[in-house]
Amino acid sequence: MQQHTGQHLLSAVFLRELNAATVSFHLGECLSTVDLAVAAPIAHRLEHVERLVNEIVAEDRTVSTRNISRAEAESMLAAGELRKLPDRPGDIRIVEIDGIDRNACGGTHVRSTGQIGALLLRGTEKVSRGIRVQFVCGLRAVHAARADAAILAQATVALSVPAADIPAAVERLKAEAKTSVKDRQRLREDLADYHASRLAVEVPIERGLRFLNRSWKDRDADYVKLLASRVTTAAPSTILLFSSESADPASIFLARSLDLHLDCSSILKEALAQLGLRGGGSADFAQGEVPLLELAALRGSLVAAIRNSVVEAR
Ligand SMILES: [Zn+2]
Repeated sequence: MQQHTGQHLLSAVFLRELNAATVSFHLGECLSTVDLAVAAPIAHRLEHVERLVNEIVAEDRTVSTRNISRAEAESMLAAGELRKLPDRPGDIRIVEIDGIDRNACGGTHVRSTGQIGALLLRGTEKVSRGIRVQFVCGLRAVHAARADAAILAQATVALSVPAADIPAAVERLKAEAKTSVKDRQRLREDLADYHASRLAVEVPIERGLRFLNRSWKDRDADYVKLLASRVTTAAPSTILLFSSESADPASIFLARSLDLHLDCSSILKEALAQLGLRGGGSADFAQGEVPLLELAALRGSLVAAIRNSVVEAR
């Protein structure tokens, strides 16, 4: 009754203040909603509407019901004293909030607006017909405010700032995180450069070719891919077979420097296809994913395929 009468009052105030008609409503277990036929944003007016509703609650206006004939109801509709009528025949039940609203409604209502207790708007979302506004009345409003207060209290402890400073603290953390991500990316790139040159030193070119065959358990796929691209750019006469085992499936990269002519994409595709897997890329840089359990077998067949291609090329 409380939530339902609150909905009558809220719809009336939305119509009066924002010319926003209620097209439908839903009374939920915890949260109720009204759908308003409005196109323009209303967020900046919600506080105003909420205050007016609560003033009318405090005025404790009478909510009365009476039955009138269909004919009488239709003449009220024609005179603009009612917004709409139900389709069914017979007498019409009119619910009136004194001086505020008149509605045809068969539901149950509180006897005066004071019994609504209070109305708290909770939020809005866009729906196909306009804007959905969430609200709660009476003790549910107190429960909702209490739950909010508990969340705020947790946030003040977690952030070590007073509640009023939480938005600024969160903005600061977001800015710091953004900077950290940029710093981390720059460090990863620097590391990949050093790592690439170290690998090139560790494995010299023999008989015109350097073959780098490595797998890492503690490096993610993005880093291994970055490293692979740095190696092929920086080290000539190089073929590399890299994989990252930090996740399942593992990621595998077959790439070469541009001065060679090995077709990495077709070699990797063929080896993956033997396991019923797919992957690909370009002639100089190919990548795929493979379940960790099958990584060793795939690497073995790739090493053999690379040797064959290199022997054929000679
Ligand atoms: Zn009603």
